[in-house]
Amino acid sequence: MPAITVDDLTVLPRIKGPGLGDQPRPVRSVTAAPRGYEGEGFPVRRAFAGVDLRDLDPFIMMDQMGEVEYAPGEAKGTPWHPHRGFETVTYMIDGVFDHQDSHGGGGTITNGDTQWMTAGSGLLHIEAPPEWLVQSGGLFHGIQLWVNLPRASKLTDPRYQDIRAGEVRLLTSADAGALVRVIAGSVAGHDGPGATHTPMSLVHVSLEPGARIDLPWEVEFNALAYVLGGRGTVGIEGRPLESGQTAVFGPGDFLTLAADGAQESRSPQLDVVVLGGRPIREPIAWAGPFVMNTKSEVLGAYEDFQKGRFGHIPAG
Ligand code: MN
Repeated sequence: MPAITVDDLTVLPRIKGPGLGDQPRPVRSVTAAPRGYEGEGFPVRRAFAGVDLRDLDPFIMMDQMGEVEYAPGEAKGTPWHPHRGFETVTYMIDGVFDHQDSHGGGGTITNGDTQWMTAGSGLLHIEAPPEWLVQSGGLFHGIQLWVNLPRASKLTDPRYQDIRAGEVRLLTSADAGALVRVIAGSVAGHDGPGATHTPMSLVHVSLEPGARIDLPWEVEFNALAYVLGGRGTVGIEGRPLESGQTAVFGPGDFLTLAADGAQESRSPQLDVVVLGGRPIREPIAWAGPFVMNTKSEVLGAYEDFQKGRFGHIPAG
């Protein structure tokens, strides 16, 4: 169960249904996320593994981290590693993750907090569960999204945004059966707290069994929906979508999500990450932790990293 919940959805601002002439976004593809391991070995699902980079633009990739219940001693993070040319966005749905970077950014995110890190010109960072959590074990569930930066901003100064769970904008659907958490961007005129370099929206929707939402979506944005848990359908065509699957939508004014009436008890709601933005439409040269425009810029990043130009690991 996601940490950000609301007991009475009817008290939230409601998102009105589509108006006359508003066009539904068709579902263009549905793909399944393969399972893998990240960092020192925590389980992930590669949400966008089957989606063309041009359809993801301005996003690069997304991992669903967990959901996993760690036994004592099992919790894992990443070693120190570099990034350049993009942003990493970590949304902790349940659990605790510590972050530290060579640019002075860092902190603890927990239970609905988001850390929006602009790597820009480059930094080193580490993401790990706190020592007490390693000892105790516990629930770990979140996403890490990679957001591309346009050429003009690739070497911008690193920036760190701590977005607390309590700052997330909460809305509900016309039927008050869905909780809509706007982390960044805007839904129906309601702005989320995250600051972005190019226009985009990042939203986490939880639908009660049988609930449905027509989510207004910026016409100039692409649109993707990834199911964190539960089962339902997407699009007015009612295409089935379940845990670990991504839908790519075509153009239109709104997108439709609906939760099946019967859900498994381990995931009693349909939980969906919905995201999209204005495509950057520049060449992408991506290797490992670097996302640049050309291959020589990526080679330059490796060289700078090897020569220690990404900063130094802070003491202690
Ligand atoms: Mn990283």
